[in-house]
Amino acid sequence: MENFKIEVDGDGIALVTFDVPGRTMNTLTASVIKEIGELVETIKTDDAIKGAVITSGKTTGFCAGADLGELGGEGGLGGGDLQAAFDAGFALNKAFRALETGGKPIAAAINGLALGGGLEFVLATHYRVVADLPKLQLGLPEAKVGLLPGGGGTQRLTRLMGVMAAAPYLLEGKSMKPAEALGAKVVHEVVPAGTEVEAAKTWIKTKGDPVAPWDKKEFKIPGGGPYTPTGAQVFIMGNAMLRKNTYGNYPAQQNIMKAVYEGLQVPFDAAIRIETRYFLKTLMTPQAKGMIRTLFLSLQELGKGSGRPAGVPYYDVKKVAVLGAGMMGAGIAYVQAMAGIETVLIDQTQEAADKGKGYAEALVKKAVSRGKLTAEKGEAILALIHPTSDYANVKGSDLVVEAVFENRDVKAQVTKLAEAQLADTAVFGSNTSTLPITGLAEASIRPESFIGIHFFSPVDKMGLVEIILGEKTDQATIAKSIDYVLKIKKTPIVVNDSRGFYTSRCFGTFVQEGMELLSDGIAPAIIDNVGRATGMPRGPLEMHDDVALDLSHKIAIQTKKDLGDKYEERPFTAVIAKMVEDLGRYGRKNGKGFYDYPEKGPKTLWPGLSELVEVKTTDADKALIDQIRTRLLYRQAVEAARCFEEGVITDPREADVGAILGWGFAPWTGGPVSFIDGIGVAKFVETLDQLTAAYGTRFTPPALLREMAAKGETFYSRFGVKEKAAA
Ligand code: NAD
Repeated sequence: MENFKIEVDGDGIALVTFDVPGRTMNTLTASVIKEIGELVETIKTDDAIKGAVITSGKTTGFCAGADLGELGGEGGLGGGDLQAAFDAGFALNKAFRALETGGKPIAAAINGLALGGGLEFVLATHYRVVADLPKLQLGLPEAKVGLLPGGGGTQRLTRLMGVMAAAPYLLEGKSMKPAEALGAKVVHEVVPAGTEVEAAKTWIKTKGDPVAPWDKKEFKIPGGGPYTPTGAQVFIMGNAMLRKNTYGNYPAQQNIMKAVYEGLQVPFDAAIRIETRYFLKTLMTPQAKGMIRTLFLSLQELGKGSGRPAGVPYYDVKKVAVLGAGMMGAGIAYVQAMAGIETVLIDQTQEAADKGKGYAEALVKKAVSRGKLTAEKGEAILALIHPTSDYANVKGSDLVVEAVFENRDVKAQVTKLAEAQLADTAVFGSNTSTLPITGLAEASIRPESFIGIHFFSPVDKMGLVEIILGEKTDQATIAKSIDYVLKIKKTPIVVNDSRGFYTSRCFGTFVQEGMELLSDGIAPAIIDNVGRATGMPRGPLEMHDDVALDLSHKIAIQTKKDLGDKYEERPFTAVIAKMVEDLGRYGRKNGKGFYDYPEKGPKTLWPGLSELVEVKTTDADKALIDQIRTRLLYRQAVEAARCFEEGVITDPREADVGAILGWGFAPWTGGPVSFIDGIGVAKFVETLDQLTAAYGTRFTPPALLREMAAKGETFYSRFGVKEKAAA
C-alpha cells in the first residue's frame, strides 16, 4: 500500500499511519479508497494483529475528506452507467463498513482536522481519541458545496447524536471542536496532543469492543427514530425549517433529510445503500456541479492567485497608506493590521483619522473580551495602525489604497499628494465604486502603477476584492495588487474598466429589475419574498434600501448625463426621485425607504408606496412566482454574459466566484455563468428572446450568446481558465 503504513507492536496492535504520498494533506483519493479495502483484509486475516489504531502521518491534519477535484470532474462517477456509478459511489461506504464489521477492534487517534470523508473514516472505527488541539475541527462540510456526506456520515452521526443534534452539522456543514465532540458523544476521549496513539492502544488492550453501537441488539437512536412520537416531531419541524431557510433551492439539504429519514428506519447495511443513492442523486445535479466548482475548486484556485501574471517576483507588502478614514478606510486599516501590515491611516484632520482607527479598536476589544485574541496580540495589532493627517507619513509605503469621497477632484488631489511621497515600485489603488479607473489615472504621474482595488462593505466580513485595470495599468501592478489582496486573506478577481465594473454593474440589474416589477404593479411584498426565494440574500427592494436610494438617484442622474441620448428613462426613476427629493426617504441609513425601520422591532413595508405606484397584483400564483424568479435571475445572468462580450470579465471562475462573494448571487447556481451553462446556452437564449418580447430589450441576448448557442459552447468550454501566465 502506498497510502498506509502498518507497524505491529509487541501487544499485537497494528499502528496504521495514513499518509498520502506527495500531498500536504490526506484526502480520500480513488487509490486511498481501494487501499482501505486492502487494509481491512490485512487486519482481518493476519492472526498476529489483535486490533488497530489509525492515525495520520501529516502535521496538517488527519484527513480533509474526498478529493473534490476528482469528484467534481467532467463526466462524473460511472461515466453515465448507473450501476457503475452506484458501485463507484458505494465503494467508500463498503470499505468503511468492512472496517467496522471486520471483527477486530479499531480505534482512531485523531491528531488533526478530520473533515467530510475524514470524519466519516473515524466514525467507522469503534473508538475515537482526539488530540486536544484548540484549532482541531471535526465536521461534515459537504452540504456547503452542494454535496451529501456519502461515506456513512448521514447514518453514523445521527445514530450517535440523534437527528436534532446532528442536523446543523449535516445540513449547514457546521464543524465542532474536540470538547464539543466529546460532549456530543461523537468522540470518546480528548487527550493531550501527542498521547492520542497511546490512549487508543490502551482502549484496545483494556476494552477493545469490535462491535459498533448500531450493530448491537439493544441499540436505540438517541431522541428516537422517525416512527417514535418525538422523532416524528423532529422531522415535521425540520422539514419546515429547511424549507424556510433554503426555499427548496438546494437538493443536497433535501436529500440529506431524505437519507436520514429513510436510513434510520432500516438496518445499517441497507441504510448506507440508501445514503449512496442520495449521494449520487445529489452529485448529478447541476447545483452540486456548480457549487463544487465555484465554492470549492475555483475559490481555492483564486485564493492561490491563479490569475496572477507570471514572471513578476512576489511583492511583500509591508506598509500601506490608506487615504480616507471613513467607513471603508477604517475597515481596510483593520484587515491590514490583522494581516500584520503597517498601516498609515490618513484623513483631513487628526481627529477624523483617530476616529477611523476607533473602528479597529472596537473590533479588537470585542475579540479580546471574547477570548479570541490575547490582550498583547490585540495591542500589537492596533500598534500597527498610525492615524495621521500628514501625507509625509506615506513615505516608504509599498501600496496606497485611496478611499476618500467619491469625487473626481478630491481623488485627484489626494493622488498627487500621496504620489509625491511614493517610490517608483509602489502601487496606487483606488477603492472607487463607480468612477472609471482610466479617468482617475489621469491625475497620476505613474498611470502604469495605478489600479482599482475595490473592497466590499463591511470590509472585515466580505471576502472579495475586485481588481480593476485602467488602460495603462501594467502587469507588475496587477501581480503586486494580487499579492496584497492575498496577504490580507481576501479573494481577488481581475476585471477591466467599465461603468460599475463587473460586480456593481450586474448587482445593479437585480435592484433595477425589482423596480421594474414594482412599476408593473406587483405588490412589493411579493417582489421581495420571491426575491429571497430565488436564493438571493435579500429581496431587490430590501437591497435597494441597504444600498441607499439617494445613491441610486445620484447614479441615475450621473448616468443620464454621461450617456446622453443613449440613456433610457424607466418609469421608476421618477418614483425614486420623488422618494429621495420630496420625501427624504434615503433607505435603511435614515430609517426610511421602501421599508420603515423602527428603532425596535422588524422593518415593515412603507404604506405610502402604494400612493406612488399602483399595485395591481396582490396574489402570487405559481406562474407569477416563476415569472418573477426568471426575470430576477436571467436579468443578472445576461448582464454577466454582456460583461464577457465586452471583455470586462474574461475568466468564468472569476465571474462565478465574484458574483457569489461580491453580491450574494444565488449560491445554489454556482454563479451566473454556471447558471447559464447549467441551463444550456441555447435554451437560455430562447428564454431571453421570450423575455425580450414580453418585457423589453434589457433581456436581449448579446451576439456572443447567440454564437455560443449556435456552436454548442458553454462559458467554461469557450473561455476556459484564463492563462495569464501564457499571456
Ligand atoms: P466615507 O464618506 O465614509 O469616507 C470618506 C473619508 O474620506 C471621510 O472620512 C473623509 O473625511 C475622508 N476624506 C475626504 N477628503 C479627504 C482628503 N483630501 N484627504 C484625506 N481624507 C479625506 O466614504 P466611504 O463609504 O468610506 O467610501 C470611500 C470610497 O470607497 C468611495 O470612493 C466609495 O465610492 C468607495 N466604496 C464605498 C463602498 C461602500 O459600501 N460605502 C464600497 C466600495 C467602495
